[in-house]
Amino acid sequence: MSLRFHNTLTQRTEEFTSLHPPTVGMYTCGPTVWNYVHIGNLRTFASQDILRRWLRYRGYTLKHVMNITDVDDRIIQQAVAAGQSIYEYTDQYTKAFFEDTGKVRLEKPEIVCKATDHIPEMVGVIQNLASNGCTYESEGSTYFRITTFPEYGKLAHLHFEGMKAGARIDTDKYDKENARDFVLWKAKKEGEHSWDTALGEGRPGWHIECSAMAMKYLGETLDIHAGGVDLVFPHHENEIAQSEGATGKQFARFWLHTEHLMVEGQTMSKSLGNFYTLRDLFDKGYAPEIVRYLLISVPYRKQLNFTFEGLKSAATAIERLRNFELRLKTSKFADGENAALKERTAAALRQFEEALDDDLNTAEALGAVFEYVRDVNTAMDAGEFLAGNAAAALDLLARFDSIFDVLKPSVAEGAIADADIDALIAERTAAKKGRNFARADEIRKQLLEQGVILEDTKEGVRWKRK
Ligand code: AMP
Ligand code: ZN
Repeated sequence: MSLRFHNTLTQRTEEFTSLHPPTVGMYTCGPTVWNYVHIGNLRTFASQDILRRWLRYRGYTLKHVMNITDVDDRIIQQAVAAGQSIYEYTDQYTKAFFEDTGKVRLEKPEIVCKATDHIPEMVGVIQNLASNGCTYESEGSTYFRITTFPEYGKLAHLHFEGMKAGARIDTDKYDKENARDFVLWKAKKEGEHSWDTALGEGRPGWHIECSAMAMKYLGETLDIHAGGVDLVFPHHENEIAQSEGATGKQFARFWLHTEHLMVEGQTMSKSLGNFYTLRDLFDKGYAPEIVRYLLISVPYRKQLNFTFEGLKSAATAIERLRNFELRLKTSKFADGENAALKERTAAALRQFEEALDDDLNTAEALGAVFEYVRDVNTAMDAGEFLAGNAAAALDLLARFDSIFDVLKPSVAEGAIADADIDALIAERTAAKKGRNFARADEIRKQLLEQGVILEDTKEGVRWKRK
C-alpha cells in the first residue's frame, strides 16, 4: 500500500505524491513567540516531526518552511508592558522555542522565517489582491472582501448563507458562525509598532504572513500545509482565500491538522490556565524523550489526553525498548539463524511501515514493535534467538528510532559523559583483576551516584543511565 494522508480539504484519506518529486514543499504554522510554548503546542509540532521523518523514510527530500509570528496584539501588549521593543521581547521566546523543540528532538525545518522580516512580501500579496478586486480600505486598514471568493469555507466545510457584504473584523481570531471580511493590513494605532508601506502606516494582520512566506519560499502551490486543528478556521481558510485570490491557483494540495492535547476534557491552552510547559515537566523529573514519546504515541488525528499516568507509562515503554536493545547488543547468541524468527522480524518491519503509511498511525507502529519485542524476548529466553538474527533485529530498532527517536537517553546538563563512564568501568575491571575490591566497589558507588547502573554479566559489564 502506498503512503496516505487524511486531507482536511477533501475530507478523505488520499495517496500522497509530491508535485516535484523527490522534493516535498511543506509549510507549517509556527509559534507566536509571546511566551513559552506549552506541551499542547508541542504536540502539534511533534506530529509534524513524525510527518517530516516519515516522508524522508519514504525517499522524499524535505523543503519545510515554518514561520515565527513575532508581531501580533499579544506581543505588542506584552512588549510595551515589559518596556522592550517587540524584537527584544520576541527574541527570548524564539530562542526558548528552539531550545524546547530541540530537547524533544524535533528536527528544525529547512527554512524558519520571521513575520517581521517579510513585510514587503506581505504588502506585495495584498497589492495583488487589490488589483484583483478582492480588497477594500476603511479607516486606513485594508480588508479582504470574502464575497469575492465564492469558495470561502471550502476547507472548514462551512457554508455561509448570504455572506454579509461589508461586515468586517479587525481581530485575527473569530468564530465560525460569523464569517467576516478579515483584516489584511491594520492601520497604525498610537504606541504600536508599525511599518510605513505603500498601504499606509500600519502592520500586517496575522493570516497574510503565512500566505506571503509560504509562497515566497515554496511557490504558488504547496504539497502540504499543516497546523493544529484550531487553525482550520479562520486562519487556514483565510490563507486559502488570500493566496488563491492573489494567484488564481490552488494554494495547498494536502492539509493536515493535528488534534488537540487535552487535560481533563478541555483543550490545553494558555487562556484556560491548564497548561504545562516542557520546563514544568523537566522539573518534575521527566526526561525529554518521555515527553516526546507521550506526544507522538497517539495518532495525530486523535485527541491526546494528558495525564501523569500517561507519562509514567511512556517512561516504562522506553525502558522496555532500551533493555531490549541492550540485550540484543550485549548477549552472546548461539551461531546460526532461526528462519522463523527471520520471518518474524520481516513481518514486524512490514507492519511498522504499513502503520505509518496509513496516515501516520503511530499507535499501530508502536504496537507492531512491542509485540515483536515480546516475541523475541521469549525466543531469547528459550535460546531460540540465534546470532544470525541479531543484525535484522537491530536494523528494525534503528528504523523505528529514526522516526520515534527515544532510544538514546538525553544526557542531563552536567551529567557524566559516556567516555568517562567507559573509562571508569575499565578501571573497575582492572581493579577487580588486581583483587582491589574496595576500589571496584567505590567506582560502582560513584557511578550509581551519578545515575549510572552497572550490571555484571557473563559477557562483561553492561551499563545504563537511571
Ligand atoms: P500558537 O503559538 O498559539 O499559534 O500555537 C502554535 C501551534 O500549537 C498551532 O499549530 C496550534 O494549533 C497548536 N496548538 C495550540 N493548542 C494546542 C493543544 N492544546 N494541542 C495541540 N496543539 C495545540
Ligand atoms: Zn499560518
